[in-house]
Amino acid sequence: MSKFRIDPQLVLDATLHEKLIKDLNFTPLHPITVKYWQLGGASGWLGTHTTSILTCPDGVGQFQHYVNGSIYYHPSEGAHEVHGLIKARWKSLGWERSFLGYPKTDETKTPDNIGRFNHFQGGSIYWSPSTGAWEVHGAIRSKYASLGWERSFLKYPLTNETTTPDGVGRFNHFQGGSIYWTPSTGAHEVHGAIRAHWASLGWEKSFLKYPISDELVVFGGAGRISHFQGGSIYWSPTAGIRVLKEKVRVHVKILTAPTSFTLDEQFAAMQEVFAIAGIRVDCASTQNLSLPSLNDVDVGSCMMGSTTSEQNSLFNNRDFVGSKDLVVYYVRSTVPGYNGCASHPSGKPGCVVVRSASRWTLGHEFGHVLGLNHVNNNDRLMTGNGTFNITNPPPNLTSSESSTMRNSSLSTNI
Ligand SMILES: [Zn+2]
Repeated sequence: MSKFRIDPQLVLDATLHEKLIKDLNFTPLHPITVKYWQLGGASGWLGTHTTSILTCPDGVGQFQHYVNGSIYYHPSEGAHEVHGLIKARWKSLGWERSFLGYPKTDETKTPDNIGRFNHFQGGSIYWSPSTGAWEVHGAIRSKYASLGWERSFLKYPLTNETTTPDGVGRFNHFQGGSIYWTPSTGAHEVHGAIRAHWASLGWEKSFLKYPISDELVVFGGAGRISHFQGGSIYWSPTAGIRVLKEKVRVHVKILTAPTSFTLDEQFAAMQEVFAIAGIRVDCASTQNLSLPSLNDVDVGSCMMGSTTSEQNSLFNNRDFVGSKDLVVYYVRSTVPGYNGCASHPSGKPGCVVVRSASRWTLGHEFGHVLGLNHVNNNDRLMTGNGTFNITNPPPNLTSSESSTMRNSSLSTNI
């Protein structure tokens, strides 16, 4: 039984408040009253109360409205204030009975110092002066959080979570992009030129359907790619936007590691050119092979359709390799000496590339594997004068070369 009412001013010292309750048997103040006085009471920014402390319609928590905001209390979340446009958004969604539930924070300044947010049990509402207040929740909110919230390239939300026109998925648009979610694909961001192109094709209603990846860096280079259910969109400063509906799967077998250009540099270069043909280059596996007797491999005349016994031995190394997959064997050298050689045993599509090969050799040899012949033009990938002599990187593919590559049985639909 308590004898004294605590002067609300004392709750500003939480330790003292606790001590009065524990040691002197004072009646604890309602957590809403404590929060109110911590925020300045009637002379603070909340102003005077406009209701008493009332039980919420869900019967779980309590609230009190004030001239300039409200304080909501939930037994496991404590008491937190909501006000302004964030409160208006929460109200528009149905207060604590919405998916957002009760507030878990007061309105808080974002780390970028521009906006404000409240976290709730079931999501968050983010506000900034130029965007207004919008909710993010669920898997989309988790993706937003994992990218760095408003400090990411996405910046602030521009919509609530919204059902897509096809009725299957959900999305939030943000200042710097979008996050799309479906039950089967999860939540992925799409932004920039790739998003703009996807939008121009009709978003998820296009043949690409939903994103199945975030935007990814392509083999450590300048290229970027987003994967969708129906294909991929590639962008690079030199290739621009390219929709990739086909793919080749490449396995790397290393007898001697490349020395002039890294594997990533060679794959990035190959993808840059293959993107012109609408073909995605997937590096499916990388394996080191200890085969000293094949490290200076005899390739004979290196004519398509004819192979030496050393090539036959080398191309027998097919761990992980599916029937339509391609293999590149990195060797110290070929005998006679070339940058690479694309002749391969029947049914074992692949090529040999030497350690000192050019940036474009990998793409050039796989161009042969997909059916291309040499041309006498150093502007083009298929120059027969050596890919070190390419004059306008990235080298050109003609539209007929592109369609030959797409029509090869070795490039398959994504
Ligand atoms: Zn060639």
